[in-house]
Amino acid sequence: MGVVTTDEIFTWEESKKHRDYVRYHGVLQFINLWKKSKDRKNDEFKWGDELEFMLVKFDDKNKIAKLNLISHKLLPILNEKENANPNGVDCIWRPEFGSYQLEGIPGQPYGGLLSDFKTVEKNMRNRRLEVMEYLKSDEIIMMLTVLPRMGCPNSFDPSEQPSPNSNDYASLFVASNTVNQQFLRWRRTSVNLRARRNEVLAINLPIFKDKNVPEPFREDLRAFNDDGKCEAHAKDNHVYMDATGFGMGCCCLQVTFQGRDIQEARVLYDQLTPFVPIMVALTAACPIFRGYLTEVDSRILSCIDSVDDRTPGERGLEPLEDNEMLIRTSRNGSTEWYLSEEGDRYNDVDLEYDEKLYKLLRDHEVDRILAQHIAHLFVRDSLCLNSMALQSNDETDTDLFENIQGTTWRTMRFKPPPANLSTGWRVEFRPCDIQITDFENAATACFIALLTRVILSFNLNLLIPLTKVEENLHRSYKRDAINKEKFWFQRDITRSETEKKLSIDEELCELTIDEIINGKTETFVGIIPLMNSYLDNMNVDSETRCTIQQYLDLFKKRASGKLMTDAAWIRKQVTSHPEYKKDSIVSDRNNYDLVKKIYEIQMNTKQHPEMFLSY
Ligand code: ADP
Ligand code: MG
Ligand code: MG
Ligand code: MG
Ligand code: MG
Repeated sequence: MGVVTTDEIFTWEESKKHRDYVRYHGVLQFINLWKKSKDRKNDEFKWGDELEFMLVKFDDKNKIAKLNLISHKLLPILNEKENANPNGVDCIWRPEFGSYQLEGIPGQPYGGLLSDFKTVEKNMRNRRLEVMEYLKSDEIIMMLTVLPRMGCPNSFDPSEQPSPNSNDYASLFVASNTVNQQFLRWRRTSVNLRARRNEVLAINLPIFKDKNVPEPFREDLRAFNDDGKCEAHAKDNHVYMDATGFGMGCCCLQVTFQGRDIQEARVLYDQLTPFVPIMVALTAACPIFRGYLTEVDSRILSCIDSVDDRTPGERGLEPLEDNEMLIRTSRNGSTEWYLSEEGDRYNDVDLEYDEKLYKLLRDHEVDRILAQHIAHLFVRDSLCLNSMALQSNDETDTDLFENIQGTTWRTMRFKPPPANLSTGWRVEFRPCDIQITDFENAATACFIALLTRVILSFNLNLLIPLTKVEENLHRSYKRDAINKEKFWFQRDITRSETEKKLSIDEELCELTIDEIINGKTETFVGIIPLMNSYLDNMNVDSETRCTIQQYLDLFKKRASGKLMTDAAWIRKQVTSHPEYKKDSIVSDRNNYDLVKKIYEIQMNTKQHPEMFLSY
């Protein structure tokens, strides 16, 4: 999120008046930053992960697991160590959207040595252990993308009645105390987003049609005090949700990489982009929403629809009003624009942007490709503005740039150096669901980190047209996509046929995840075989190699169907529970037993060979 330092956040009506100012000065702030940083060279390869954790409270008497709304009490305590010794802590704690969430990052980023991979898993584990010191006996911190019953009665502690008709965080299912209570920016962002959209949010996830699900499946939303507004947006045979928290309040894993210079960062941003849907399928961990089994396995679709602040006109549903233009997508979604010169060949999205802002960027000699990216970013409005940000200095501050950049939640993010220039050009890989064990989270972070090394050292080309990446993304979150879907992919990732001058269509093929990861005899080499040949050429100590091998094995076996994704495993637990009635409903007891079981696995008191480490 952008940095907002006071609580005096404008309403959407107020904010709207500053729209042109924010856009112009936000872009100008980027231009100044770019001028200062464009020639920076030889930054070290550094990287780091972000894990979003979930706080849960058990009611053991009634066998209910609830989200524990205490992050505003915990975070100040957790920050004490860092405040006393900013460079000497093992992990750093940051606020998140939900008042049941915390974000933890390593105390220092990792460096270029592969031997750093050995420390990742332990650091992740230590983060949880650190929080546990401050929890009561019925409270836990855990890794789970979303509590299966989030938004059902009894799913939060303390429990407050949702207020669907308020001007605050209006929802049929979740109250405003579920949003961060210490920093109001998330709540204000949600409220302004909904006000800008000028319509209720409509997150519709297809329900998993088990034997006893009625046809059509349709909930009576009046039972949740709907006055008809939500009813009109709820689709048959879908689980309907109406709040930002159903997307932004899901927990994920993100990884940030620093390029040597802006050029390398642009290459990495592009090359990682086609791999986004592949990782979504490989790390899917989120099959249940608001107490129902769904046809999706990850949080991607709910994330996209939970922050769609476009007006009906911008979505193409009504005539455009003054100052409006059609906007293709929500603030969250697939990468829409490649940034490298090579990537530009595959830029096939009709990108909307303001000509004046584009011209401003070009007048300052920002190249065409980057100018289009930034001008496109600034089709969005600020959802979280205050007067301080309006006073920011275009030469030295980046508040208005970050204000839009930080509230545009694409699956990849291109991060310029911060205002104080303490770090370089970075790219962030953002689509993965959090995994339920440290092992899997470490494996995921290291797998992507290793991929960046392999891409750069072998000069791989993973590029495909961005409309195809987007198509892949919409395949990747479907139930069991990892085994059932094929994905558009670059046929010649090692550039062995470049002299043939193939057309883009000829470069494309459709592959299964197994073929992409493990290779396909003769025709496609596979990502893991490439990683192994990279490792063979590196001087890696045997302990590091062994750690990495286990991580590669996880993805190798998930891809080949030998191991389950967390999503598949969660489905299996829930559907084999004695209380499950083949109606796709996950009861309180089922939710409780699942959370307990996952917690035991996280604490290493139970092993689950279907999921990992089954040799
Ligand atoms: P945001 O929430 O904006 O994505 P965070 O500060 O929460 O950013 O997380 C940034 C991640 O980047 C952390 O994992 C951190 O360790 C890592 N990181 C910090 N400095 C660098 C750097 N110079 N290069 C790459 N990664 C870095
Ligand atoms: Mg963060
Ligand atoms: Mg976060
Ligand atoms: Mg988040
Ligand atoms: Mg992040």
